[in-house]
Amino acid sequence: MTLDADWAERWIRRTADAVVDRRDELTELDREIGDGDHGENLVRGFRAVVAKLDARRAEAEEPGASPRLVGDVLKLTATTLMSTVGGASGPLYGTAFLRAAKVTGHPEIDTRTIVAMLESALDGITARGKAEPGEKTMVDAWTPAVDAAERAAGEGDEADALRAAAAAADAGSTATIPLVATKGRASYLGERSAGHEDPGARSTALLLAAAVEALGE
Ligand code: ADP
Ligand code: MG
Ligand code: MG
Repeated sequence: MTLDADWAERWIRRTADAVVDRRDELTELDREIGDGDHGENLVRGFRAVVAKLDARRAEAEEPGASPRLVGDVLKLTATTLMSTVGGASGPLYGTAFLRAAKVTGHPEIDTRTIVAMLESALDGITARGKAEPGEKTMVDAWTPAVDAAERAAGEGDEADALRAAAAAADAGSTATIPLVATKGRASYLGERSAGHEDPGARSTALLLAAAVEALGE
């Protein structure tokens, strides 16, 4: 198994498909504890990324084009999300992908690099949003994902690390339901935010599930 720029591109394209498929669900979650735009924000952002990937693919077919790296795909994703997604999730995911790009700018993406990529993404989200685990944000999906990837990387390969991360993000998102939000728009609801799943945690679970699906193509 090689995790190369083609894998990264499949990952991002699958994420775009997933947010389109689940747009209404993400929007509904955000309607319950936010302003109801999370699905739309991500669809707009990832569609713009796909358009950029399509344009870049056409260029790459020209003779003399330099080989692409995972980090190139992630950097393009980062800058596009930052400029097209209004709302908190744009800068947060943008920073996550930018930090992830920094550790994947070399050809060999091994298990250690996958763990570093996920850790860096979480560090970026935390640097930007200052949320800690338990505040009912996407950090509650990313934190267990990083921990699970680290554990899996001790015994398995990069696919095992990604699978463990995706499963943990899914569980982490579900576990936001009883939490009271203390960061982001949902915090305006105080105690009334309990009983609803955090939309950004759910979209994080979709994003990491797409990374796993992209392995199998
Ligand atoms: P907005 O809240 O501006 O409308 P979105 O609806 O696109 O933006 O994204 C909302 C999601 O962003 C939340 O569900 C939460 O997961 C995440 N979020 C908001 N603020 C923070 C923060 N400070 N740190 C981490 N994640 C945050
Ligand atoms: Mg919103
Ligand atoms: Mg908004």
